Amino acid sequence: MMADKAGPLKETFPHPPRLSDAFLEEVEKVVGSADLKTSEAELIAHSRDFWPLSQIWFLKGKIPALPEAVAYPESTQEVAKIVKLSAKYNVPIVPYGGGTGVLGGAVPLFGGLVVDIKKMNEILEVNDKSLLVKVQAGINGWRYEEALNSLGYTGGHIPQSLPSSTVGGWIACRAAGQFSTKYGKIEDLVVSVEAVMPDGKVVKSKTVPRSSTGPRLEQLLLGSEGILGIITEATLHIFPFPEKRVLLSFAFDELERPLEAVRKILRRGFFPAVVRIYDEAEVSLHFRNLKELEGKSLLLFVLEGDAKLTDLEAEVVAEECRKEGGSFNGEEPVKHWLKTRFDVHLLAEMVKAGAVIDTIEIATTWDKATELYHRTIESLQAVDGTVHASGHFSHFYQDGACLYLTFGGFPTSPEEYYWQAWGAVMETTLKLGGTISHHHGVGLVRAKWIHEELGEYFEVLKKIKSAIDPLKIFNPGKLGWGE
Ligand SMILES: Cc1cc2nc3c(=O)[nH]c(=O)nc-3n(C[C@H](O)[C@H](O)[C@H](O)COP(=O)(O)OP(=O)(O)OC[C@H]3O[C@@H](n4cnc5c(N)ncnc54)[C@H](O)[C@@H]3O)c2cc1C
Repeated sequence: MMADKAGPLKETFPHPPRLSDAFLEEVEKVVGSADLKTSEAELIAHSRDFWPLSQIWFLKGKIPALPEAVAYPESTQEVAKIVKLSAKYNVPIVPYGGGTGVLGGAVPLFGGLVVDIKKMNEILEVNDKSLLVKVQAGINGWRYEEALNSLGYTGGHIPQSLPSSTVGGWIACRAAGQFSTKYGKIEDLVVSVEAVMPDGKVVKSKTVPRSSTGPRLEQLLLGSEGILGIITEATLHIFPFPEKRVLLSFAFDELERPLEAVRKILRRGFFPAVVRIYDEAEVSLHFRNLKELEGKSLLLFVLEGDAKLTDLEAEVVAEECRKEGGSFNGEEPVKHWLKTRFDVHLLAEMVKAGAVIDTIEIATTWDKATELYHRTIESLQAVDGTVHASGHFSHFYQDGACLYLTFGGFPTSPEEYYWQAWGAVMETTLKLGGTISHHHGVGLVRAKWIHEELGEYFEVLKKIKSAIDPLKIFNPGKLGWGE
């Protein structure tokens, strides 16, 4: 192995013994020689995900952890055979989708085999009558949505990472898309799941609208981050392609007012597809070309669906925004957002220029929303080295909202600054009774705080993990294990 493995995790997670030739030969028999990769480029490509700290290391030529091999199965049966072999040879196994996770969830801490499911990328069945689609879990998000659009539907799940993430990754991370206030988060969209469990057995849940036959065990896989099995197929809700779309924006003098407007809109039973409330700092970052918004908070809406319902929704939205003192600002800011919403090149440029930048998504109930915003922003500003701390609210419920924070700086000690900033937000959120993650998950980054977040439920989760994966080979060290 030529690669420099001298990453900061080296001391904590020593390189494992090499995989045996017998194991690799048996895996090769399953997937074929073309789909079992051991080249250095392939191993480095699967050494990390989009975790910003690992990007900083990467730019310095450091790799957090290398797998020993990468397999690309093409069917559930192949996945099951690989998993049985991993159990037989006691080999760590890391499921890999698009590698867009932002918390190090796909880093192969203990080496072993990465199972990349991108070749399992077919739409298997569209059920128009019941508005359902069955797919293989490795399907790319963009391809999924584009294929549904061409058939006259939308999947309603549009994360910013749509161009690179997979359906399996969405399920494994309990993801939330930009249009989530209307269509729901991934847990609302997933109807049934097929997965290969750590003993190699294939589990499948029924595709039914609801069932009362005990707890729905497939829910365990939503948010499991690869520690309980490999998701191989899923059936999800789809929606008729919207007949009408309305774009609206309103400017406000203070952040509290748009929050109130949105709370009241949802309380009246209206669920606009996209709702985004930007604070002043984010307005100056993302909408600096729109001078009239300077010093304001901005509330954006995309309303869509049935034409009659959308018109009615537009009326209600305008009414509530005006009541809260919002001034109508037309379509332009929403068009700008629609055009730029997948563009993250500036972040990458800034990291290359030496910046430490990250985002943290947390959530709370309406009664604590403004306090959470002010206290977390203050906590970030108090960290030595912060030059930017801002936030927007972007996923809404009748009982609360998700706050998405962005922070950054050019600190002298990037890692120290990174962990101090994360610690400030995590501890403030826990103190205020919010959740430390709304949709990115735990990965490696939140491991330190997961016990406090889950309390005794963490012990229950540990018992479930030990029962399902007694050999501890599934994505070891993640979701709070291995500290
Ligand atoms: C620019 C950018 C924007 C983003 N925007 C959003 C957003 O709007 N909303 C949002 O929710 N997230 C967002 N994310 C985070 C990320 O895209 C999501 O967490 C996504 O769901 C990860 O999918 P993936 O296929 O890339 O998974 P990966 O990164 O490959 O894996 C993530 C975790 O899931 C496990 N895993 C992957 N596939 C499977 C499987 N088939 N079975 C079992 N475990 C599996 C992995 O082991 C790992 O622990 C964003 C990330 C980036 C980089």
